[in-house]
Amino acid sequence: MALSDEGLDRGRAALRKKLMDLLLSGDLQELVPEFHPDEGYSYCSSLREIGISECDGLEDVLRELVREGILKAEPHDNIAVCGRCGSHRLIIRPVCPYCGSINFHKTTVIEHLACGYSGPETDFKTPSGEMICPKCGKKLRAIGVDYLRTADVYLCSDCGEFFSIPELKFVCTECGKENSVKDLRITRVYRYKVIPEKIMSLEEASFLSELADRMLELGVLVEGPGAKVKGVSGIEQGFTFVVRSPDEPIPLAVIDVIPPGKQLREGDLLKFFAKAFDANAKYWILALPTELDERLRDVARRYGIMLVESSGHEDLIERLIRLLRELLVREKPLEKDHGTP
Ligand SMILES: [Zn+2]
Ligand SMILES: [Zn+2]
Ligand SMILES: [Zn+2]
Repeated sequence: MALSDEGLDRGRAALRKKLMDLLLSGDLQELVPEFHPDEGYSYCSSLREIGISECDGLEDVLRELVREGILKAEPHDNIAVCGRCGSHRLIIRPVCPYCGSINFHKTTVIEHLACGYSGPETDFKTPSGEMICPKCGKKLRAIGVDYLRTADVYLCSDCGEFFSIPELKFVCTECGKENSVKDLRITRVYRYKVIPEKIMSLEEASFLSELADRMLELGVLVEGPGAKVKGVSGIEQGFTFVVRSPDEPIPLAVIDVIPPGKQLREGDLLKFFAKAFDANAKYWILALPTELDERLRDVARRYGIMLVESSGHEDLIERLIRLLRELLVREKPLEKDHGTP
């Protein structure tokens, strides 16, 4: 039992990972259930098309992703399922609303206004084609005058009642339960939509953690994403990363990574300059997911800000690592110089 639970958990974790990969790559933006006569509503065939063949535990994973704000559930359909076993495979069985019998048939009813008797038309018809009331024996004269005729009503052969709408029972083909409308369980079926902002922030988070790992490989100390440095002014300054050389009291570099979609203005450069200056770091680096225009580049240069620009995350990481490597090389001869007079 514990083993199969474990297997289920592993399957679910693998499924979640595959789904997340598809969400992050943008290959999956909306998950719409498809209806199959055998399976009912299912997401599996939609997922099969994008490479996920195993979808055990999918409902749990989807609920989890909704809870985490990655997916949004929107109502897609309402379906009624068996109140006992939940199956959607139901046969509609019409029955007499008075006695529940299935033994009824469609007929035409004649109401003899003179005596108040009503019954099926066949009981009034004589072999000669005349219409005689079976109760009072009088001959019927004219429709609307001494009798009324109502077509398409049902007559129950068991209890003798007439009715125009039979009661419907929903018989489950799985468990056999005969459900009344009240017995049925109404199930809401959802379609799932990706919340783009959340995906972007997840992408950003994975990008920043990858960047941190790559910087660590350079043999430096990395604080962040989200690092604070106490400035000369006594105020704590926040940066995306603070990079330090081991045994150096002042930071080697302070780095801000600008999130995609943010329009950088001159004021932002000034703000970054002010806090980097206060943090007393040697190098001030702004990493941008876009290219800056020439005028702002010039402003950055005048503030002494180093720019790393690229629209691709991977490329941005490579460029930033290259720059840090150069800075570290630049720092090394200086260290040696300390010893010489
Ligand atoms: Zn059932
Ligand atoms: Zn009946
Ligand atoms: Zn009569």
